Amino acid sequence: MKILVLNSGSSSIKFKLFENQKAVCSGLVEKIGNHQSKIELKILKTGTKMRRDTHIGDHEKGLKLVNELFEESGILKDLNELDGCGHRIVHGGKNLTEHCLVNDFVLEEIHRVSSIAPLHNPAHLAGIKTMMKAAPKVPNATIFDTAFHKTIPDYAYMYALPYDYYTEYNIRKYGFHGTSHSYVSQRVAKLMGKKNEEINAISAHLGNGASVCAIENGKSIDTSMGFTPLEGLIMGTRCGDIDPATIPFIAKAKDLNPDKLDTMMNKQSGLYGICGYNDFRDIISEIQNGNNLARLAFEMYCYRLAKYIGSYFAILPYTDALIFTAGVGENAAAVRKLTCEKLKHLGIEIDEQLNEENSSGEKEISTKNSKTKIFVIPTDEELEIAKITESLIS
Ligand code: ADP
Repeated sequence: MKILVLNSGSSSIKFKLFENQKAVCSGLVEKIGNHQSKIELKILKTGTKMRRDTHIGDHEKGLKLVNELFEESGILKDLNELDGCGHRIVHGGKNLTEHCLVNDFVLEEIHRVSSIAPLHNPAHLAGIKTMMKAAPKVPNATIFDTAFHKTIPDYAYMYALPYDYYTEYNIRKYGFHGTSHSYVSQRVAKLMGKKNEEINAISAHLGNGASVCAIENGKSIDTSMGFTPLEGLIMGTRCGDIDPATIPFIAKAKDLNPDKLDTMMNKQSGLYGICGYNDFRDIISEIQNGNNLARLAFEMYCYRLAKYIGSYFAILPYTDALIFTAGVGENAAAVRKLTCEKLKHLGIEIDEQLNEENSSGEKEISTKNSKTKIFVIPTDEELEIAKITESLIS
């Protein structure tokens, strides 16, 4: 089966094409609507790269160029040759709790939920509509970041606000990165010789956005992100948990309206807000240069992460595995080391040599004595989306 996976952002389209669950090519349409817009495609088997620098006014033009490069490279003659297209959707809201094929109801719901995911859902919708127009015969599937968390119990997803904020505005924890948490926990189940529904794990997806998830018997029972992807861990540019009363205080003190507050907390905070860097490669080299704010940001990050992981140890009956994934989780050995050291009294023991080894694949990094195994698992959300899309089509 030929499945195209699309992750449409407000000014970008990330794409990856799979044939029988093997990645054929991947690419990115960038800076849509900007004069520096471009498209890049990489053929994975040969490493060949194709690139066009041209004005890409909207998503429709972007997808047209994807189609042209597919044709030029001989990968596909036309998008209509696809068996299906899987779209990553950040927020499914309260009604879209299962991955599904697109119909009018699904489109309306994604649109309705845009009010609580304004940065993501409108762009996803543009991606789906563009695909429907460009390849009318190809079925489209929507894969929700929130769906894996539908099993979180009410006492964990409710906020202690007046109850009618929940009934009227659906304000509750939804959780995100579900496709990744699900994928890495399934990989670990396999590595440990267990069925998916037998695995108890804590998975830490640490990218620019970051979340931790407590998984009991293969199901999410709690996660650090909430109503939006802002809650929880300290992230690249997002603040994560803060005292909610600071918001009205800052609004008054700095005369900030809700949009500016949102921008400050999402784009100017986190690691970047503390030390001016949001990339761990920079932060680690700054620490080596003696930058004290970089050290502070690093320690704050690991402390918050360890606190969340520790709390999930408390709610799980037992924990088979602690999993690190995504850009930071897969590459920043120093983050894994300090975080695991803080959890030592729980019987978690990291093998420093294995942790430092520079390998790119899946690896176990705990000592033989560790009560909980520690894994580094490269996430593959696109493959997971392709697999789910295949199963929905069949
Ligand atoms: P996104 O959430 O955008 O998908 P990624 O999962 O790609 O993000 O993670 C990007 C982050 O991973 C970077 O900002 C950086 O902090 C971190 N990272 C990537 N490579 C390395 C590395 N070699 N060493 C340390 N950190 C890294």
